[in-house]
Amino acid sequence: MNKIEPRKTETKPQPRPGVMAIDPYVPGQSSAPGVGRIFKLSANETPLGPSPRACEALRNFADHLGDYPDGSAMSLRLAIAQKHGLDPERIVCGNGSDELLHLLAAAYVGSGDEGIFTEHGFLVYKIAILAAGGIPIVAAERDLTASIDEILAKVTSRTKIVFLANPNNPTGTYLPSSAIERLAGELPRHILIVLDAAYAEYVQREDYEPGIELARWRENVVMTRTFSKIYGLAGLRLGWCYASSDICDAINRIRGPFNTSGAAMAAGIAALADAEHILRAVAHNEAWRDWLAREIARLGDIKVTASAANFLLLHFTDEQQARAANHFLLGQGLILRAVGAYGLPHCLRLTIGTQEANRFVAAALADFLAIESRARA
Ligand SMILES: *Cc1c(COP(=O)(O)O)cnc(C)c1O
Repeated sequence: MNKIEPRKTETKPQPRPGVMAIDPYVPGQSSAPGVGRIFKLSANETPLGPSPRACEALRNFADHLGDYPDGSAMSLRLAIAQKHGLDPERIVCGNGSDELLHLLAAAYVGSGDEGIFTEHGFLVYKIAILAAGGIPIVAAERDLTASIDEILAKVTSRTKIVFLANPNNPTGTYLPSSAIERLAGELPRHILIVLDAAYAEYVQREDYEPGIELARWRENVVMTRTFSKIYGLAGLRLGWCYASSDICDAINRIRGPFNTSGAAMAAGIAALADAEHILRAVAHNEAWRDWLAREIARLGDIKVTASAANFLLLHFTDEQQARAANHFLLGQGLILRAVGAYGLPHCLRLTIGTQEANRFVAAALADFLAIESRARA
């Protein structure tokens, strides 16, 4: 046996530098103790739930729990490729798109390398960069919207990756395809651009493109997608990405050999086949997001950021009022998402819910403001 020099200062295993610098991701609240009926509007889940076809596929899958899944996710990749007109060889599936974000950072970011994301960007980007040993770099936003100029201004010789959610969570703002094209055009070709299009299906804007075209033609652009949002399968953990063959090759080498479960893949394939369900979800979201934005803005004291996704960012006058509102709503069984960790302590994020939940939350916010103004008087 080789003689190992003991490092006298270390009496127990030490994580790599960077790991302990990570603030663990804290999910939104999902319960309101002591309250009977609950409306969870904190995790951007779809109020319509998954397609009944996905549920049926999952039930039928119960007979196959003893079998290892197809580690290449071939059937699912073919179904995705067919639906979106893609090359199935350039798709990699993951245990949620979160896993793919981590795999991309693990494959392309090394110790001391820099990864850029935006001021109010999705928290997982920072975690993935730190976990890979990299240095997180924050690009300022303008009007709660990612700024291509600010991102480009942060590029150095150490930059390896740029994460951009489009639309972004928790702001709901998006960048038009022309802006994304400019980013891809001006960024050096060795820097990986990850376009996180978790909410793509919800976006009904003429100037929006989720990243398929850029990922198709540019070797440094990856688009990630998820089954957690409009498809209603967050509990099964399923995502995918579209990238160059080289990028797919790299992350296929480091992913777990069976990283997507057979249950998730069976449900995902069935969900993809139910186009009508998605159309219903989009129509519901359009109608109720506009209704909620109008009703809440009408109350006067709460500003609402225009959203392209299935949630709204509500701005209160200050952190204290946001906290009071959150507390009041929780008491009514309405769970919203506090977004202090995103640098927005005076805001709450509200997921578009069922008709009943939406009417209830609008009324509860009106009650909150009325009680507050009475207390001030
Ligand atoms: C919800 C969300 C995801 C999806 O994560 P999954 O791991 O696929 O559930 C990815 N990115 C953003 C910005 C999100 O809001």
